[in-house]
Amino acid sequence: MSVATSAPIAPEASVTPPPRLRPALVNGSPCYVECPPWCSEDHVAANERHLEDVCHTSGAVDLVAPRQGGAAHLLLLTRLIAGSGLR
Ligand SMILES: [Zn+2]
Repeated sequence: MSVATSAPIAPEASVTPPPRLRPALVNGSPCYVECPPWCSEDHVAANERHLEDVCHTSGAVDLVAPRQGGAAHLLLLTRLIAGSGLR
């Protein structure tokens, strides 16, 4: 009988990634805001009046399916938006 040996199994990574801080302007004052990984918004260019107005936006994503005959058919065009001011 043989016993297989292998490298020890590392414990599951339970480390939370550090916050993704990006530069922003709020009412003309430079600061950093915590952005989700999918945010592609330029928070400096947006220059929101209040910190609560900072909105995180992703790039647009198309969901396309082929039609018979090979032409592409756009099923969905979407983008993620998150912000404390959204209701
Ligand atoms: Zn953001």
